[in-house]
Amino acid sequence: MEILDGKIISNQILNSLGKRIEFIKQKISRQPKLAIINYFSDSPSTFYMNIKVKHCAKLGIDYQILTPDIGGGQKEFIETLKKLGEDKTIDAIMIEKPLPDGFDNYLFWDNMPAEKDVDCLSSLNMGRLFLAKKFSEIENGNFFVPCTALAVVKLLKHYNINVEGKNICVVGRSSIVGKPLAHMLTTMNATVTLCHSYTKEISKHLKAAEIIILAIGKAKWLKKDMIGKNQIVIDVGTNFDENGKMCGDANFENLKDEVKAITPVPGGVGPVTLALLIESVVRAAERKLGGQL
Ligand code: NAP
Repeated sequence: MEILDGKIISNQILNSLGKRIEFIKQKISRQPKLAIINYFSDSPSTFYMNIKVKHCAKLGIDYQILTPDIGGGQKEFIETLKKLGEDKTIDAIMIEKPLPDGFDNYLFWDNMPAEKDVDCLSSLNMGRLFLAKKFSEIENGNFFVPCTALAVVKLLKHYNINVEGKNICVVGRSSIVGKPLAHMLTTMNATVTLCHSYTKEISKHLKAAEIIILAIGKAKWLKKDMIGKNQIVIDVGTNFDENGKMCGDANFENLKDEVKAITPVPGGVGPVTLALLIESVVRAAERKLGGQL
């Protein structure tokens, strides 16, 4: 059984950014800058936000964390997005979920400035992604894509796992992971089955796949009785078990002697996602040097 380590890829990406950041600093006389909107400082996403900002600081990327007052409602949120869009000193914007109850997703997606939308939340970036027919259009396109979905593709490519003509079962259909990933893999000529909580006899789909990708958010959900032989398992899930230990959607211990290859949690998809997010911030700043969205 092979362990598909994401830290190697993450380090490669992060190590390549220093020179690019220095070049930007010379050209625009300031550091690249990321703005993060985070409504709930006690939400689990704050944990991941702190990891992101730590890496930004280490690499010489400036950042600002905004915690708007929930009382200001959606109107203040949209105004904040507009101001950040117009602010020439801000290159990139990230939004930590959840947003307060009652916010209209369409209004937010339509008002997210696409050229600063580094994790692909805006209607424009999402639309461009889903209009692409070939993966090269996604890879070389002048738009941002969801970093977690891209991280899975980068991981597969790094380990020379060719997806063309393969049967892939993606479990989870969220807009930021499962759905864009299923689309990306389709553009790479894989045959994708996208499963969700209403899928009947899910094990049938899992057993028929050569590659299984999990993005459901259920600790240690996948076990060996649900899968076939000699499969590759990519685990996007980030959960905490009953002892507070980070774990994936796959039961790693139960599966490790059964599968051909598997990503660990932590240390698999997560570090690659983080590195790609930070690379997207750098790309957003590089736009100031000439690129257009
Ligand atoms: P989400 O928005 O909650 O979506 C979960 C998806 O899983 C839904 O489509 C849901 O189906 C499906 N699902 C839930 N239980 C299921 C079951 N028992 N069988 C089949 N499908 C089931 O989650 P998300 O934001 O995509 O995140 C998924 C996981 O990835 C979480 O653990 C999250 O923390 C992790 N994550 C990791 C990274 C990383 O970089 N490693 C980044 C982002 C997210 P329905 O649509 O029918 O409800």
